[in-house]
Amino acid sequence: MSEVDKMARLEALLFVSGDPLANADIATYLEVDADEAASLIEQLKRRYQRDPMSGLIVRQIEGATSLGTKPVYADTLEAFYGKVRDLKLTDAAYETLAVIAYNAPATRAEIETVRGVNSDSVVSRLIERGLVREVGTLETPGRPALLDVTEQFLMDFGLSSTRELPPVDLMMYDTITEFTQERQSAAIGAAPKPLVIAIDGPSGSGKSTIARLLSEHLGILTLDTGAMYRALGVKALRLGISPSDQEAVRAMLSETSMEIDLADRVQKTIVDGSDYTPYIRTPEASKAASDISVLPVTREYCVRIQREIGKRQALILDGRDIGTYVFPDAPVKFFLTASHEVRAKRRLVDLERAGVPSTLEEVMREMEIRDRQDSERQLAPTKRADDAILIDTSEMSIREVVDVMIDVIRQREQVQPSWSQSRHG
Ligand code: C5P
Repeated sequence: MSEVDKMARLEALLFVSGDPLANADIATYLEVDADEAASLIEQLKRRYQRDPMSGLIVRQIEGATSLGTKPVYADTLEAFYGKVRDLKLTDAAYETLAVIAYNAPATRAEIETVRGVNSDSVVSRLIERGLVREVGTLETPGRPALLDVTEQFLMDFGLSSTRELPPVDLMMYDTITEFTQERQSAAIGAAPKPLVIAIDGPSGSGKSTIARLLSEHLGILTLDTGAMYRALGVKALRLGISPSDQEAVRAMLSETSMEIDLADRVQKTIVDGSDYTPYIRTPEASKAASDISVLPVTREYCVRIQREIGKRQALILDGRDIGTYVFPDAPVKFFLTASHEVRAKRRLVDLERAGVPSTLEEVMREMEIRDRQDSERQLAPTKRADDAILIDTSEMSIREVVDVMIDVIRQREQVQPSWSQSRHG
């Protein structure tokens, strides 16, 4: 068989196949080896590219090849087919597609975790449109379906493989890699271990603002653990219970349900079905939080919830004891601090914004008492873990702190190659 003959046969084969044909099968049909098949496909591809009189192109998708039409002639083809496919997708659909494409195969729960909102109906629509399909089930309780993007998705987006997807933020890859590894370990029965980033430090050190920015940058949810102690403190005050009364608090907690809603990336701390978020930033709530958080029964209550959430998904947690007590094995830990005055000034601005005016002296006094209580309590005091990176934010802008933290995460990534080994490409 001459070279020309093989090319003509390849073209005929792809024409009748319609669907992508595995390159290995092409080699078998043409009775050539894999290298020669690849070279013939490449030649045909270039021929179509060069030939202005041909409306065809060769598409290569995940080790398979098909014929397609040049996108410039889409208007003519649309007139022929009618508008079969409305290619306009909603933002939610694009976001969900991206999560699946980078994270495939992914379960609905994982998609929800990354997006922070229930995505079931978006996923169903993507399946209907042929852009996503179920590729199996995960061998964990409930056997959730695993989803992947389809060849149609690759064609519509002009990709030959999900490996060609543009690199998203470095850490987002790591998060996804962690998810993937987690899922694989879950499938073989090992304990899953999502990525946890611990940010500890005293009040006003910038933890929550920084955790939020880092969360946006890395695409990981963030949990403000202080809000949990604050909400419990507020509940105790409302019930007329002293937040330091161990027995009364124990009784209160036995009848308290707490849910943390991280949807839309804005934390809602829900106690007994009510969102306490609007009531937890007052000086009274700060004092009550500090008092109630000293009690072992309260810590046990909150830490159990924090570990539960951190076990399910990659998470940034900000608090006092995350790196030392809640997640001592967290692979990335920061301890933020700042001078007493700088921290007090920040808290003053926060209070003013929340409509609770105060004076610098008052805030400094209140903060000093709270810091002392938080760092001197017996159980899980505010403390820098030995392996936490200390950052003094007194003279730094928020952006500078976030940049330093991202640098640290990247350096850690180099000494923990398991984070990056299975990255795409
Ligand atoms: O961080 P934030 O100022 O909102 O925390 C309120 C209080 O909750 C702290 O003063 C501390 O007493 C308590 N807390 C804690 N452990 C955490 C987070 C907060 O004891 N992980």
